[in-house]
Amino acid sequence: MSEGAVKKEEKPRKFQAIRGTRDLLPPETALWSRVEQTAHEVFATFGYGEIRPPIFEATELFARGVGGDTDIVSKEMYTFVDRSEKLEPDPSIGSMNVFFQKVRELFKSGEIPTDEQDEAALKIAEDQWKKVDDLLEGGLKSESAGTEIYKLVLFYDALRLGTRVSLRPEATASVCRAYIEHNMQQLPQPVKLYYMGPMFRRERPQKGRYRQFYQIGAEILGGPDAPAIDAELIEMLMTFFDKCGLQGTELSINSIGHAADNCRRDYVAKLKAKLEKVKDKLGADSQRRIETNPLRVLDSKLEHEQPIIATLPRIADNLCDDCKTHYAAVKHELELRGVIYRENWRLVRGLDYYMRTTFEITAQGLGSQNAVCGGGRYDGLVELLGGPPTKGIGFAIGEDRLILSLQESGKAPVAQGRDVYIAWMGENARATAVRAAKTLRNA
Ligand code: AMP
Repeated sequence: MSEGAVKKEEKPRKFQAIRGTRDLLPPETALWSRVEQTAHEVFATFGYGEIRPPIFEATELFARGVGGDTDIVSKEMYTFVDRSEKLEPDPSIGSMNVFFQKVRELFKSGEIPTDEQDEAALKIAEDQWKKVDDLLEGGLKSESAGTEIYKLVLFYDALRLGTRVSLRPEATASVCRAYIEHNMQQLPQPVKLYYMGPMFRRERPQKGRYRQFYQIGAEILGGPDAPAIDAELIEMLMTFFDKCGLQGTELSINSIGHAADNCRRDYVAKLKAKLEKVKDKLGADSQRRIETNPLRVLDSKLEHEQPIIATLPRIADNLCDDCKTHYAAVKHELELRGVIYRENWRLVRGLDYYMRTTFEITAQGLGSQNAVCGGGRYDGLVELLGGPPTKGIGFAIGEDRLILSLQESGKAPVAQGRDVYIAWMGENARATAVRAAKTLRNA
């Protein structure tokens, strides 16, 4: 080996943060703390309590709560198998029959959740093991022995030997899960909760978009769906942004009707019929969404689709009387609270359990990723997750973007200087200096 090669090998690898993640460092972290402190204070004055759900949950919770067809669930989640502790970590080929037997037991008892695919995969692996076992008995004389063992390893690796869990891509599903799990419907309603912390989505990183990003969010669960609840939630949000010193905020609101009733269904049918007629002029994503989720076509940012979207039917013209009244009352309640809003008929949420009020807030200095907050009413979600019928509304603020916007407008705190500097002269004075530092810090 040449000297150069030896050196290369010895040099330890330098690690970098994973793509799409980053270190938040001082002095910037002081701004993060200030923003979070402001959230604690403002939300408390509106009667909210803090919830800290876990960072990972059953994949199934997000598949149901966020929607299996969404990009978030179908492409962007960090998912892994949390292997059952009842299985030995690395069975040898000799002990594999015992191992497979144990797997079968865990499948049967439901300790490892399974579907048809899992059952089939186990059968294939077991059959392969039998083949290899025969070859072993025959002293591995067959030419194909190596290949067969390799196949067994592959089949074994492909087995799902535990629960599938995901890093949370958002927290609403977790909050609803917690509401159900802790029987919060028995508390005085509504229950008002807020959270803050990291979320994970495997998106293409760019300015204001990360794979680990932070959200501050709040949810109101239970109680009535009174328009004042929607308005007060939005008022709290605007108060918070104001206290943070966020500049150029714009609040857009919309009502997307009622899924269970006929107004949303009729509107979606109308929208779909119209979209079919202009299908050829739309991009591939929108064409696909005509089938999967027509409302989402309204979200499109594609330049050439904009004039077409402008001609589509509007949900405001199709709301049933109840939804119309609710929407008018929300606007009235916002005015009562001095909250300035803009109506945006294209503001939609793609999932069925979203209904009536939707809103979004943009801020300045963020370029194309200028949404700092999204929210809406989701009366069907708790039920969808196995709880009792429960009203719900909430929002999630993108904290990274909020911080970016504050920095762009010069709101970042300056690095703190030292208040006191202690110097000592000569070793004899050192003990006094150390004690003086301690006394000063305590004071
Ligand atoms: P959503 O949960 O998708 O409704 O997003 C709510 C808010 O979170 C958005 O308005 C953004 O401010 C923020 N957000 C969503 N995804 C990301 C991301 N990948 N990076 C940074 N912020 C994000």
